[in-house]
Amino acid sequence: MAWDFSTDPEFQEQLDWMRELVRTEVWPIETVFDELGEDGFRRAIKPLQERVKERGLWAAHLPPELGGQGFGQVKLGLMHEILGTSPYAPAVFGNAAPDSGNSEILALAGTPDQKERYLYPLLAGDLRSAFSMTEPETAGSDPTLLRTRAVKDGDEWVINGHKWFSTNGSVADFLIVMAVTDPDARPHQRASMIIVDADTSGVNIVRDIPTMEHPAEHFGRYGGHAEIHYEDVRVPGDALLGGEGEGFMIAQHRLGPGRIHHCMRWLGVSRRAFDMLCERALSRYAFGSVLSDKQTVQNWIADSAAQMQAARLMTLHAAWRMDNEGASAARTDISLIKFFGANVLFDVVDRALQIHGALGYSTDLPLEAMYRYARAARLYDGADEVHRQSVARQILRGYEAHDVPSEHVPTRREEARARFADVLDAVSAND
Ligand SMILES: Cc1cc2nc3c(=O)[nH]c(=O)nc-3n(C[C@H](O)[C@H](O)[C@H](O)COP(=O)(O)OP(=O)(O)OC[C@H]3O[C@@H](n4cnc5c(N)ncnc54)[C@H](O)[C@@H]3O)c2cc1C
Repeated sequence: MAWDFSTDPEFQEQLDWMRELVRTEVWPIETVFDELGEDGFRRAIKPLQERVKERGLWAAHLPPELGGQGFGQVKLGLMHEILGTSPYAPAVFGNAAPDSGNSEILALAGTPDQKERYLYPLLAGDLRSAFSMTEPETAGSDPTLLRTRAVKDGDEWVINGHKWFSTNGSVADFLIVMAVTDPDARPHQRASMIIVDADTSGVNIVRDIPTMEHPAEHFGRYGGHAEIHYEDVRVPGDALLGGEGEGFMIAQHRLGPGRIHHCMRWLGVSRRAFDMLCERALSRYAFGSVLSDKQTVQNWIADSAAQMQAARLMTLHAAWRMDNEGASAARTDISLIKFFGANVLFDVVDRALQIHGALGYSTDLPLEAMYRYARAARLYDGADEVHRQSVARQILRGYEAHDVPSEHVPTRREEARARFADVLDAVSAND
């Protein structure tokens, strides 16, 4: 009987090292990121990236033959919990989204040429990528509605379509575009992934969309979400990533582990917010006591601790399942943690912000930024409602309809009377 919640001591040492590095070297960068600018940031993290490589922790999501560490999802999850505490830590460890997910699909489905041209430079940090699937005119929640088309013309694909929210699209060297290649195929076999160099003629990057995260429009910002028109974009036939019609299948490979990593990163953010909540509860005095003496605040602390513990165990369990039973066995668990984890993050950050009053709302603390980040978590990689729907559907497959509820007491009583007739007769004969 194996039921083990421990981390092996060797890996725990690595985790302790990561926590120390992120806390002492990466957190300070947050406060001067805007002053550093994009180039300054790259220069500031370069020596840290070298230390991560020396320590054998660079791009840990990939198999060793591709320069990664081949960690399973449980180890990766524990690692992401630490990296999640700062928006800048994943870049230091070579696994910042969307490059990490894109490198996974290139590793999975790329040809040797595509790996040479895109994957290895991506891993080395020499190229940047974006994943371009969501469209303003169709519901991203139902990707079978995608309209962007890729049509074969001789040896080339010609792409036309309108995308938005392609994260890093305006700074990317190449985009992985999801386009319909066969509109007559079955819904989940209509689309394919195509690699498009960002400087290809017809790739018109209109803007980085101002969002809650970055309300002021600022074109060409790392972490920006680009709106892109693909207008008669011609790419060679071998730009197809994976087989024709395999777009959704490959996307699923990207999304499963990605969601586990998101959830663990959210726990890193939640923990940081929770620490701030507790610190403030003990420090702020109002109405005759410190806030930690008020029951509402105690409830916030206890509820947050319980929610985080539940989300952490659920996420690590989903990761364990993925490692041991494969991605499709973990599908429901992953949907569960995606919406549950996003809401835990949202609740904990909200309480931490609330206890700080006006200070929490100000940019003197990182909580307002965490709050904006937390809101997006309930949308990207599947909105809450879509994951809930998916979980409910999976669960309901294990049930069948009954005209009379199977627990209906009078019906069961009648059956039980028939079953125990001898005993009941004997009991009533003795009366
Ligand atoms: C910060 C951020 C980064 C992103 N990065 C990328 C990226 O790099 N590449 C990319 O391609 N896309 C990206 N996206 C887009 C993201 O994947 C989509 O926003 C998401 O899939 C939802 O699609 P939609 O916005 O079109 O919303 P819609 O599909 O229009 O859904 C809107 C709302 O409808 C409701 N809804 C939908 N379906 C159901 C249902 N079955 N039952 C009940 N209610 C339902 C939900 O409340 C949902 O929030 C990003 C989005 C954000 C916010």
